[in-house]
Amino acid sequence: MEIKAVHFDMKSMIPTADYALTLVDELAEQGFNAILVEFEDKFPFEATAGLHHPCAWTKEEFRRFGAHCKEKNVELIPLLQSIGHLDYILKYPKFRDLRDGGPGGTSYQWCLALEETYELWCAMADELLEVFPGTKIFHIGADECNMRIPCERCGSGKLDLYIKRVRRCAEYIQKKNLKVVLWDDVFRNHGAEKFAELPKGVIPCVWMYRELDYDYLERMAASGLEFWSASCIQAHRFYSAMAPQEPKMRNVDAWGAVHAKYPRISGHVGTAWGRIQCQSPIDVTLPQSMFMSAYLSETLTKGVITDRKKFANEFGKKFFGMELDYDAMFSYFCYEPACAGKFVTELKDNASRHRDLAEIWYGFNEIDKMLEYIYTCFANNEAMLTTWRAGMAPNEMTSNWLDGVRRCYEDTLAGLERIKPMMLKYFPEKMWDEFVDQRFTAKLEQNEYWRHVLTNAAAKWKENMRK
Ligand SMILES: [Zn+2]
Repeated sequence: MEIKAVHFDMKSMIPTADYALTLVDELAEQGFNAILVEFEDKFPFEATAGLHHPCAWTKEEFRRFGAHCKEKNVELIPLLQSIGHLDYILKYPKFRDLRDGGPGGTSYQWCLALEETYELWCAMADELLEVFPGTKIFHIGADECNMRIPCERCGSGKLDLYIKRVRRCAEYIQKKNLKVVLWDDVFRNHGAEKFAELPKGVIPCVWMYRELDYDYLERMAASGLEFWSASCIQAHRFYSAMAPQEPKMRNVDAWGAVHAKYPRISGHVGTAWGRIQCQSPIDVTLPQSMFMSAYLSETLTKGVITDRKKFANEFGKKFFGMELDYDAMFSYFCYEPACAGKFVTELKDNASRHRDLAEIWYGFNEIDKMLEYIYTCFANNEAMLTTWRAGMAPNEMTSNWLDGVRRCYEDTLAGLERIKPMMLKYFPEKMWDEFVDQRFTAKLEQNEYWRHVLTNAAAKWKENMRK
């Protein structure tokens, strides 16, 4: 396979520009020759008038990152969304007019009837290519375009506008002698024969993260088009440590079998999603994906892994210099972070290599332990609301939950303080603060609300007892 890539989703909690270099080393060591970088608001685009994230790397830091990739023979593939997934731009009042559906429309995708949206995209692409001068492949995204958003400007012809726009963006990049890649799903869902309307040489990347559509893959293989595939090696909506690994392994296994059947698939991307949209809370990061990236690399190189335990053992020895408890590693992340605690603590304390990753795995698992406790308290309290308000809960019970409220507050603050110095070795401080804010601030405010409800419940119970 020509291109073996891992996805670096900068929507997520980005590492410091220094630490990110070591992640490239690790991916290169694992056998990857490409990294698909989704910059979002972490690249300081001048075209978007400085409305980027406060932790965005500087262009100088990106140049250094690009040069480092080149040194390690890792092809940096920039990904710049050309249709949707554009909340990071359209959420700002300055760009409201560009929304599909007009100023009151969606912040998700921009209007394809507007020439300005094409011009803005070209300007952003130019900035990326100026910073990464040796780029050979460029990904224009274009997935999950919503065809049903009512818009006076584009009327009922959104699919035609979509195809026309994708064609223009592709041509714009191809004129610079670069290869163009795009996500395939809009074509998959609206008629794959329309791939013929794209400029020759544009490479669809077929992404399927759960069930694979084998009929479609058969048709793609028979079409003679060059295409890539994409698996999901990391994603979890509610937690921040490692997603349960088994479904990810199954997805990679399924793709391994497809690659054996269709050797003409010329590239593969293991995607590691850091959050769903730019406005949803941060989930996992690239460092937590390093086991699955190794699993993917082995699959791409040698074919489907038949003995997962053996692979995990070898990974543990090679990567961390120690034995891994396979069951602890794969059973508990996210579902029962408290149970994964022993495994990550041992890893953090005993790993003779990649201590950095062991610490990050440990740190985020600690965070998930706190979240798990908070979720448990809140969920149960919601079910009890009527009882609390009526003053029908005995004080033994109320005091138990008030203790939960106290623990939520004290343990969370203490826990975050405890792991903060360790996390700041790898993540910018402002990024850490934002993460804590997104994951915990609203929950602790809700915790304060429960303290209020429970204190009232206790008073009311006493009053009811007196009657
Ligand atoms: Zn429109």
